[in-house]
Amino acid sequence: MSAAYNPYATAQKQFDDVADMIQLEPAVREFLRQPMREYHFTIPVRMDNGEVRVFKGFRVQHNDARGPAKGGIRFHPHETIDTVRALAMWMTWKCSVVDIPLGGAKGGIVCDPHHLSEREQERLCRGWVRQMAKNLGPFLDVPAPDVMSNAQHMLWIMDEYETISGGKYPGVITGKPVGMGGSLGRTEATGFGVIYTLREALRELGITPSTTTAAIQGFGNVGQYAAKMYQQLGGTITAVSCWDHNDQKAYTFYNKNGVDAEALAGITSVYGDIDKEKAQDLGYEILPGEAWLEQAVDILIPAALENQITGANAGNISKQVKVIAEGANGPTTPEADQVLKEREIFVIPDFLANAGGVTCSYFEQVQSNMNYYWEKEEILEKLDTKMTNAFLAVSSLAREKNLYMRDAAYVIAINRVAEAVKKRGWV
Ligand code: GLU
Repeated sequence: MSAAYNPYATAQKQFDDVADMIQLEPAVREFLRQPMREYHFTIPVRMDNGEVRVFKGFRVQHNDARGPAKGGIRFHPHETIDTVRALAMWMTWKCSVVDIPLGGAKGGIVCDPHHLSEREQERLCRGWVRQMAKNLGPFLDVPAPDVMSNAQHMLWIMDEYETISGGKYPGVITGKPVGMGGSLGRTEATGFGVIYTLREALRELGITPSTTTAAIQGFGNVGQYAAKMYQQLGGTITAVSCWDHNDQKAYTFYNKNGVDAEALAGITSVYGDIDKEKAQDLGYEILPGEAWLEQAVDILIPAALENQITGANAGNISKQVKVIAEGANGPTTPEADQVLKEREIFVIPDFLANAGGVTCSYFEQVQSNMNYYWEKEEILEKLDTKMTNAFLAVSSLAREKNLYMRDAAYVIAINRVAEAVKKRGWV
């Protein structure tokens, strides 16, 4: 990520453009263009060698007018408060656009879990909760996994919260392991949801999925399950790129005959690093990190981090690309959006495309709060219905008012949150 790029500036610009368009009242606008609350704190952790290291932690609650604040906790060495602010804001729009009764939040810890032992990670998670416990709760603020955080981290967080609170509160966090308060389908939900919206976009464009090809950036939780579901629809993935934490650079794994998502997942670390040697043995060609974006394919699925499709590289997108389904949060900058708009590429915006994760988190929260768990089929069916309905509402508004898909999604999301803050009498 370039040092100059600020995702919060992007989130605010996207918001301001739509606020202008819908003539949002000045007070509502001022209230919604920044977070309601933010917490910055230090987390001292006793490392395995006996020394204490002090980590920096954040939680930003952007808006909770529609329900408890909701959003993941990211572990990243380059995490900044502005990244967390942007992601918290996008969570508000995400929960709103799929119409689930939750607000938006995000948390972060500046760290690289690659360099922390299991026990150190556990102490870090528990330390984060000790700083935040009084501002969390099943009906207050409900965290979840995000980049480099997983189900085990969520379980430690829940356990620490319950220890502090003196009760059992599985609804305090989502993305827990199945059997320990987690929901079936939660692991798959974000990636599957991306493809449910892609399926609807292709239907609208009159394109049969089995005739299409795709390139994916990122092979973590979102990329892997998006790849699997896209293959179930009959699509062919020719390229997958991922970050290599040893080399500190990205590579693209290319196979003109099509990637086998299942086999590739089998040689991928828990953080989404694909093993280069094993991939070569399986017949993959290894190309530079940016090559995923330049492939002559029908569909691009950025499923890594923010700031990936930029003014500098949007011109390298092949003429063949018809749809971009944003699995990541904030992968496209406003400059790149301009290029995509002019080229009439059908963009399924991040906070719609990747809302499957939080939608299933909502189902998990409901199940955890009543301590009764549903079957997987039921969950995936409910997820598909929610995602499809949200997509159709956005795409029909886009068609009716001739709007870019991102703007149409913002119009729906902002209007719902604005109505909640006004009706509550906050502004
Ligand atoms: N971290 C995921 C996201 O960005 C999921 C959030 C959640 O489940 O609360 O949407």
